[in-house]
Amino acid sequence: MMIKPLAPVLAAYAATLLIAVASPARAVDYAGPLFDAHLHYNQEAWNGQAGPHPVADVLARMQQGGVRAIVSNSRPNDGTQLLASSAQTRQAGVTVVPFIRLYRNRADYDSWFKDETIFDMVQAEFAKGTAAGSFKGIGEFHLYDSANANGPVAKKLMAFAEEKNLAVLAHVDDVAIELLMAHSPTQGRNARLIWAHTGIGGAPVARVDALLTRYPLLMGELSYRPGLTCADAQGQERLCPEWRALLLKYPTRFLIGSDTWVNQRWLYYTDLMKGYRTWLGDLPTDVARNIAWNNGARLFGLPLAP
Ligand SMILES: [Zn+2]
Repeated sequence: MMIKPLAPVLAAYAATLLIAVASPARAVDYAGPLFDAHLHYNQEAWNGQAGPHPVADVLARMQQGGVRAIVSNSRPNDGTQLLASSAQTRQAGVTVVPFIRLYRNRADYDSWFKDETIFDMVQAEFAKGTAAGSFKGIGEFHLYDSANANGPVAKKLMAFAEEKNLAVLAHVDDVAIELLMAHSPTQGRNARLIWAHTGIGGAPVARVDALLTRYPLLMGELSYRPGLTCADAQGQERLCPEWRALLLKYPTRFLIGSDTWVNQRWLYYTDLMKGYRTWLGDLPTDVARNIAWNNGARLFGLPLAP
């Protein structure tokens, strides 16, 4: 009499277990602070007088996305200077980590690596600093042909960055990473290179892994990285298995970024951050916190997330 009523209870319990195994609970989105390690505040967004995204607008988007610190760089550097000097930025609780952009205009994209006036401009900007303190890095720069990593100004800038302890945000392929590292006075040992998009051309995961091992300070920024996420059955972008494994292998080496290179990226800024929060939720809490915030905070001396 006591045993019989237990059967349906056990059956129900077994059914619950089966459901739990068959459909694992959806991971909870990462909810902590974000460090946007690849942000542009370019002239067409806001030139100080006009433009669709004045300081108040971009700060509101950062706040909505839970972004509490940014690597800011802009074409020309006035945009970064504006963000760094604005009282609104401080009021919004956003820390600006200013980088010197190498581009005064679009034409500079294709010739900076051999243009001595760019080197002069970088030195002058560095000497000037910003209202938010000294510049902490140079870039983002692009090398569409990796051989241009051997340009005279590219060589000088790698030496200058290391001498001044500046980070370097580089949109380049894996071959150019090795060439740039060869120009560092320590052959890359002390070079604080941030690999924008961690190879937008799609360097295989094994190659990224080998470069991270070889260069101890190399960091990977993850915007526009092909193969990083795969859609799940519900259409949500989740980490692809081989990238998840790489992030777990190097939990202190990756950063997230918005790459607001055109105004359209500002329109989707909070969605971009929500996308990061979704796949960060698939990782162990400490790894998610590292990639979301602590890795950037450690690079630039900001307080760590609790
Ligand atoms: Zn960019």
